[in-house]
Amino acid sequence: MELYKTNQLKIYNSLSKSKEIFKPLIEGKVGMYVCGPTVYSNVHLGNVRTFMSFDMIFRYLKHLGYKVRYVRNITDAGHLENDADAGEDRIAKKARLEEIEPMEVVQRYTVDFHETLQTINNLPPSIEPTATGHIVEQIEIIKDIIEKGFAYVENGSVYFDVLKYNEKEHYGILSGRNIEDSIHNTRELDGQSEKKNPQDFALWKKADERHIMRWPSPWSNGFPGWHLECSAMSTKYLGETFDIHGGGMDLKFPHHECEIAQSKVNNGVYPVNYWMHANMLILNGQKMAKSTGNYILPNEIFSGDNKILSKAFSPSATRFFMLQANYRSILDFTSAGLEASEKGYIKLMEALSGLDKIETSKTSSIAINAWKQKCYDAMNDDFNTPVLIAHLFEAVKFVNLLLDKKESISVEDLATLKSTFNAFVFDVLGLKNELQEDSSDKLSGVVEMLIAMRKDARDNKDWAMSDKIRDELAILGIQLKDGKEGTTFSVN
Ligand SMILES: [Zn+2]
Repeated sequence: MELYKTNQLKIYNSLSKSKEIFKPLIEGKVGMYVCGPTVYSNVHLGNVRTFMSFDMIFRYLKHLGYKVRYVRNITDAGHLENDADAGEDRIAKKARLEEIEPMEVVQRYTVDFHETLQTINNLPPSIEPTATGHIVEQIEIIKDIIEKGFAYVENGSVYFDVLKYNEKEHYGILSGRNIEDSIHNTRELDGQSEKKNPQDFALWKKADERHIMRWPSPWSNGFPGWHLECSAMSTKYLGETFDIHGGGMDLKFPHHECEIAQSKVNNGVYPVNYWMHANMLILNGQKMAKSTGNYILPNEIFSGDNKILSKAFSPSATRFFMLQANYRSILDFTSAGLEASEKGYIKLMEALSGLDKIETSKTSSIAINAWKQKCYDAMNDDFNTPVLIAHLFEAVKFVNLLLDKKESISVEDLATLKSTFNAFVFDVLGLKNELQEDSSDKLSGVVEMLIAMRKDARDNKDWAMSDKIRDELAILGIQLKDGKEGTTFSVN
């Protein structure tokens, strides 16, 4: 039986500002959309944290047996500077400064994004659609919103009429802003005067002559507003209403507020049942900013190539550090914090290796099932990873006491301890055992060396030595196999 049937998962819904029992629209299936990166620079460490949080959520939903369709977009057009409706497109600006094509910018930073997330062991989403790949869908939504009377055309650009929407609906339902406070962050540039009200936001922008990324539309040669792509892609792949929409806290307003308004007008229904927001990351107690030097790139953590850090930290130690904070809390990224987490991570991995050396007894002196339930309770309480990790450290204690024979465990309970411990550490938290990988790399090196020595012995017709190497390895459970391509080995 699927685990979701016996686990009552609660999710903190940013819309109701409370923890709610999670009930997907279709039993056993979850549709989840997470706003992806704007690929105009190396992925920001704060974004890495956000995507890692949703990776952990994706992993736990899968662990519970849900079939999850996880959609995370790539913003490769339409995101203007300062999240505003005026100013230059972030990708086009980078392309202009570096004298390359916008799509070269997109390609470079999409690759960086994927590599970084793979390094920290995030699973890929089920679908990763791009804004430029969905221009047609976005134009169709704009046509529909204009037809319904909630958008107007001005000088080739199209704006969403927020005040009209707010007459019947609540613009600010998610962010808690009232309409007076909802003035969009626009600079006094051309475009500003085109809006009827400063609360309105762009659905389509006419491209000026410098603007490289442009598409034909009924209104002008231009490009879609940033908020629209997420409405278009989430509806296309997950339906008019879907289960979970996630993103960073900073996207709540205006981005997610605008998504709700557009989709509500377009489809007649609210798009999302559970809104989830991951909190921000700060560095040494302060906001990360390139200009002040209080800044670090994800890769610099793994190389240690940044003066903020005392040394390099592995991807799993970094991941473990981030998951020791609740996804809804601000995370302060510090070298001392990473060092402490690294020690904890090593203890965890050593305990996992120790599991195989435990001898069983007829009865157990430890309540393994109660411990297992506490692990699930922690995750069912809005994915509370710090509490889960505290329980995993309890398991570390069990392992050490069992190895010292100060406690006893039955065969059945040891199997439960092993499977639960492994599932939470590797499948749910997404950690890798880097210590084990290291030693298996070394083992391969040693066996390859012995294979080379055996070949030398055979070349010298020293059959006794050749057989000795093969037989001694066989005793250790390492089988050599001679083939046309040379000798290979397998470990039993
Ligand atoms: Zn979005």
